[in-house]
Amino acid sequence: MALRNIGAPPMIELSPVTAMTAYLTLLLLLITAVWLYSILKRQKKSLDITDEELTTCEYCQIVYLSKKFKRYTHCPQCKSMNDKKSLDRS
Ligand SMILES: [Zn+2]
Repeated sequence: MALRNIGAPPMIELSPVTAMTAYLTLLLLLITAVWLYSILKRQKKSLDITDEELTTCEYCQIVYLSKKFKRYTHCPQCKSMNDKKSLDRS
């Protein structure tokens, strides 16, 4: 009596060479992905070495360095207080 595989999905036949090639390809892709991720992570870190940014005074238009985390900064020239949120909108 012959066994018939009716209704079940067909089995994928893999030779040992094909299975090894697929395994090595997936491993290589994984290593490449981890390598690219580490490079991108390092680049982002190296770009963010300062906690200062350029701010333009909204009264006298002078450009000066200010702390990124401070919302309100004093202009060194006209001593006016600048709000970064309002500068971003304009
Ligand atoms: Zn100013």
